[in-house]
Amino acid sequence: STLAARHSGALSPADALSQATGYDFALEQDLRRAITSGEFELWFQPFIDARSQSVCGAEALIRWRHPTRGFVSPAEFIPLAEAAGLADEIGTWVLDAACRATRSWSATGLPAVKIAVNVSGRQLERDGFDRLVERTLSRHGLPPHLLELELTETIAMADSRTAALLFERLRALGVAISIDDFGTGYSSLSYLKKLSFDKLKIDREFVTDVDSRRDCQAICQSIIALGRGLGINVLAEGVERPEEMIWLRRHGCQLFQGFHFARPMPESDFLAFARDRQAITRLFTPKTLPSPG
Ligand code: C2E
Ligand code: MG
Ligand code: MG
Ligand code: MG
Repeated sequence: STLAARHSGALSPADALSQATGYDFALEQDLRRAITSGEFELWFQPFIDARSQSVCGAEALIRWRHPTRGFVSPAEFIPLAEAAGLADEIGTWVLDAACRATRSWSATGLPAVKIAVNVSGRQLERDGFDRLVERTLSRHGLPPHLLELELTETIAMADSRTAALLFERLRALGVAISIDDFGTGYSSLSYLKKLSFDKLKIDREFVTDVDSRRDCQAICQSIIALGRGLGINVLAEGVERPEEMIWLRRHGCQLFQGFHFARPMPESDFLAFARDRQAITRLFTPKTLPSPG
């Protein structure tokens, strides 16, 4: 992609177009093939319940093992998939793979682990998303209460009448709904009144350095109080340091996700982590933590 290459005519048409527009057409072409050629994987990052000091769930996070570029981040290719009209197809693959995996865990002695699946706004635009969810659950024999769908507040607000109806249908199936990246979308709170859901996930932006930053403390305290008032769970995302976890626990947040506990990992590593109760307890024990005060 150097200037010399361009003049020698070495660029493919897709690369030349990308250079001209700043849009990665080659990656889009690859993305179209990625589903059928089996380049996607699901990784899992644990949710930890501080009360039981155990894994209570996991977020399914898609990984794309590109044949020449290596791992491509979902932060890069999900927006591309949405722009290219591929988000629905990819989302259907993720939902299916997540339900299949979670169903298989109950046979390995991890019956109470819920799976959280990220849903793109594009998936909700199709008719009958609730029926797709219902069919996928029954195909794998997964009890609906083990599935959680993560939506961003931007999605929740986009068309609140349609969203409200869909949320009702999904919750009627027994599926839980989480608001992801809470606090980073538009700041209207009116959708909290119109929509019914089960969990708020505090965005990492407010969790980072919450033990020392007054602004983050005010925001986290408000979200925790909001969750309590609404009678729903609050989970803190992106907990990287034990001090953040300690501060949040002290202020009433008991559900955690983040590198302090575990990174997203392949299924077998996730299962090994979830079974190692002693290792999880150690992440809470005072001797590995700084002394109080
Ligand atoms: P998200 O849903 O908010 O997922 C959490 C992201 O934060 C993940 O990044 C996770 O690896 C990262 N993370 C978790 N704990 C920590 C931490 O302690 N520190 C830091 N620095 N990061 C942490 P990932 O896997 O790269 O995914 C990025 C985003 O891509 C996700 O944000 C989600 O919006 C989207 N995404 C991922 N998988 C899917 C999927 O299957 N479908 C859809 N529609 N979107 C997905
Ligand atoms: Mg998420
Ligand atoms: Mg999130
Ligand atoms: Mg996030």
